This record gives sequence, C-alpha cells and structure tokens, in this order.
Amino acid sequence: SIETFQPLESSISDTERFKDTSSFILQCPSCHEKFPFGGIVASNHYMMSYNGVKCTHCEHMFTPLQISCQLERTIRSHISLYYAAWLVCDDSTCGNITRQISVFGKRCLNENCTGVMRYRYTDKQLYNQLLYFASLFDIGRNKKEELKPLYHPDDPDFPRTKLSSSQIQALSEQNRALFETLDSVVQKYLSDCGRRYVDMGGIFQFMLGN
Ligand SMILES: [Zn+2]
Ligand SMILES: [Zn+2]
Repeated sequence: SIETFQPLESSISDTERFKDTSSFILQCPSCHEKFPFGGIVASNHYMMSYNGVKCTHCEHMFTPLQISCQLERTIRSHISLYYAAWLVCDDSTCGNITRQISVFGKRCLNENCTGVMRYRYTDKQLYNQLLYFASLFDIGRNKKEELKPLYHPDDPDFPRTKLSSSQIQALSEQNRALFETLDSVVQKYLSDCGRRYVDMGGIFQFMLGN
C-alpha cells in the first residue's frame, strides 16, 4: 500500500520508527563477548569513555577501525539479505517462503492459496535499518537522549546503572570525531539506498496519478 512508501515520518519517535530494526551487535576483539551497541547509553556490556567504546567484561578499548569494520560488515550483511530477495506469502496460514519469481506474477504458487508473494526484506526496511545505524552515531540525537532504547525495563539485561544527562552531553562532545567517522560509514550506503527508495516512492506516486 501507499502508506509503506511515505517519506521520513518526522513526527514519530525513534523508538516507534525503528521498532522492527535489528541491533548493531559489537564483538569485543579481546574477550569475544557480543553485545548490542546503542550509542551513548547505559549498558552492562560496554561503556563510553572520553576516548571511545570500552568493553566492560575485559576493559578492552575498541579502536575506531575495530568498530567501523564491524559496522560495515553488519551493513553489508543487511544489504545481501535484501539482494537475496526472499519472497514470503502474505497469507499467514500459508507461510510459503521462496526465492522463486513466479512467471504468473506475484501469486503464491502453493496449491489453493490466494495469497500474494511480497519481498520479505523491502527497500523501506533496509533504508530504515540504515537510518537506525546512522541514528546511533548522531551527536544531536545522542545529546537529546532520543535513541531507541536497547532494553525494556523488565529485560534481565536492563542496565544496572544510568548515565546522567551531563555525562551524556560531555561524552557526546568527546566522541564527536569517532561518531562522525562511524556516521560516514553508514552514509556511504544510505545515500545509495535512499536514492532507490525515493525513486520507488516517486513511481508509486506516479501510478496513483498524484
Ligand atoms: Zn572484552
Ligand atoms: Zn501462499
């Protein structure tokens, strides 16, 4: 439907906009612990210091390259998932998943099924996923504490400590250069994806005679 191609909904919060996105999982190169990175926020697994991200399991300080490589690898895995172009039947009682593009169009090929095959990972989802990664390194969003939370309060991994607003302000400025580097990694892919996404939005508008 046309709703799925609305441009950036500026009025909705990051929590709502990014509710279906996957986390950016960092792995510590020293102790191999894996944990979600959610920007300058409290976590039981990492802490932001004045000069970068520190693993709290082993005190390893990530180099900028150790983060940017993992970020780039994560982005590429999402892009390949998108290009793998799995189709899923929209009839929930069918659940047919295939990479087969039917010569009969988008009709589900399961016998007696009237469902329509849709891309499991859409342009919009990929675009939104990249926007989520970009938000993590957005100094303004970090400062305003607008990022999507990593944990729900009833999550067993909910952080035991909290960062104060003044800590977040200071850490945002101290990590500005690092975050700008990481943001540029995301932007490199986001501009390609965004162009395609906006193009598709334009096509749909055109089809509706708008
Ligand atoms: Zn570690
Ligand atoms: Zn079906």
